[in-house]
Amino acid sequence: MSSNKAGTGSDGLGNLVKEAKRLREDREKGYREKALKMYPWVCGRCGREFSGKNLRMLTVHHRDHNHDNNPPDGSNWELLCLYCHDNEHSRFIEEAEYGGTSGNASEDSGGTHRPFADLADMLKKQQNGKD
Ligand SMILES: [Zn+2]
Ligand SMILES: [Zn+2]
Repeated sequence: MSSNKAGTGSDGLGNLVKEAKRLREDREKGYREKALKMYPWVCGRCGREFSGKNLRMLTVHHRDHNHDNNPPDGSNWELLCLYCHDNEHSRFIEEAEYGGTSGNASEDSGGTHRPFADLADMLKKQQNGKD
């Protein structure tokens, strides 16, 4: 006789969620593999080279930051190491945060500044400075 697990009927939703997650992971693996086939294993920012062992440090960045935009010619992909990828994203967040404000951009140049600390600082200045 066959003794399969069907018939308990309790876990339909759990399976659905699992399946959705698996599909998404498959898709991400898919474009990563494609990008790795298409491009040399070199970080597009710092130029570090990667090989089999540390290849997981090399990630696929989406130039337009839209993970659903995966054109088959790879034009939206860029291979970046974890560090540069991180950098790229924090820069993007900053740009998004400051995108609307113009004016004293020259005030903070370089250094170790965190977007949110700066934001708080900026708000304070606005409140104090203007009457
Ligand atoms: Zn890098
Ligand atoms: Zn990215």
